[in-house]
Amino acid sequence: MQKQAEVVTLGYALKLSGAEMLELDHRELGVVVTRVGIAKRWGLQIFDTSAGGAGHALELFENGKQWLATTVQVLYRSEAHDARCETACIRCLLTTGSQLDYEKGNLQRRSVLRTLRNLLKAAETSL
Ligand SMILES: [Zn+2]
Repeated sequence: MQKQAEVVTLGYALKLSGAEMLELDHRELGVVVTRVGIAKRWGLQIFDTSAGGAGHALELFENGKQWLATTVQVLYRSEAHDARCETACIRCLLTTGSQLDYEKGNLQRRSVLRTLRNLLKAAETSL
């Protein structure tokens, strides 16, 4: 599993779920995946695309628990979708903005869904 692909996938999932949650056009949120920090690990930034910011990203971070739950829903969609979609499709992560990453193999829906669920389960049990 490529870590870059996981972060790219998570970035699109957060962007699309954030747009769904706030009832926005997904183009109102931007996502950039890049290496960050001294260790140069893959990381991502979610931001408002409007000049000066619209406060959407802030609202999402303030409602992080709901945002992550919505992100799981975007990746899962339904039992039928989950059974047949390995990397991405139009029902989950595929948009005109993610098409190039899809073609590069940078969308890994199933493995990111599994990782996200495990992290949320671990967070619940540690509270
Ligand atoms: Zn799909």
